[in-house]
Amino acid sequence: MISPTPITRTVLITGCSSGFGEATARLFAACGWNVVATMRSPEVGTELAALDRVLVTRLDVQDPASIEAAVAAAIARFGRIDVLVNNAGFGLFGVFESTPRDKVLEQFEVNVFGMMDVTRAVLPHFRANRSGVIVNVSSGAGVFALPMISLYCASKFALEGFSESLSYELAGLGISVKIVEPGGVTSTNFGQRSGQEASIGRTLPDYEPFVTAANAVFAGLRTSRASATSEEVAKVIHTAATDGTDRLRYVATEDIKPLVAARRESSEDEYLAFMRERVTPKL
Ligand code: NAP
Repeated sequence: MISPTPITRTVLITGCSSGFGEATARLFAACGWNVVATMRSPEVGTELAALDRVLVTRLDVQDPASIEAAVAAAIARFGRIDVLVNNAGFGLFGVFESTPRDKVLEQFEVNVFGMMDVTRAVLPHFRANRSGVIVNVSSGAGVFALPMISLYCASKFALEGFSESLSYELAGLGISVKIVEPGGVTSTNFGQRSGQEASIGRTLPDYEPFVTAANAVFAGLRTSRASATSEEVAKVIHTAATDGTDRLRYVATEDIKPLVAARRESSEDEYLAFMRERVTPKL
């Protein structure tokens, strides 16, 4: 008897120019998947484009026409999409009051509304197939809040609530939603972009002692924990996409597990006492 030819599955990933997106594209390709590696500037994706079964195409989550074009190109090339990984994102760093309003809007346009627009573009295809997995890349900052990243936290808390709600709406249609929560990974371009964005904010002298002390807290958090790699996060994204379970959340790195446990397993008072001790700068 001839066994049926296994069908090669297809993943579409946003933000593949660097970091988790690039590592996830490489991992799925190495596992034999068709990969639609999308990015704002496809000219930086020549190494990915040279891999077998990888289509590099433009997708800027702030440009709806580019989202429609990328989804159409994926289906034209590979016939279907099985998994969507909403990975594109960035983090604003700095005190809220110093952050210009247009930057607040951009944080939500990329991390929240862009993620929703890509999801909306893929859903008719998933519904027609009665199958599909959506993996949304959140953060520890989507579970617990830290000072100096209020807008990033707000965007990832929004992503978490949206994803959880969507998971109930789509379960009956054979579509599952997954949330992957990485902690700090320094080998991506995330810190570099956050640093560039931070310089845009106004200097407000009243905050200066707080900002200096908060920066010392963050420096301590960075140096006291071994950083995970993009490849480790990519493995968790791959597991979330392929484990066939209805599990919703996946904590992707060890560093944030104590904080996630404090949030999820303690009372509100215990949690706040734990966090204030660790993240409130001593002035
Ligand atoms: P990264 O190396 O900076 O990658 C971010 C990716 O998002 C880049 O490909 C970037 O493209 C893309 N992107 C930004 N704005 C976009 C837009 N408007 N349209 C399409 N793509 C856009 O950082 P990363 O660490 O891999 O971050 C990936 C995801 O993980 C993000 O959602 C981030 O919030 C999350 N995360 C990161 C960490 C961490 O410590 N690294 C921790 C927790 C969660 P360009 O090259 O064109 O800018």
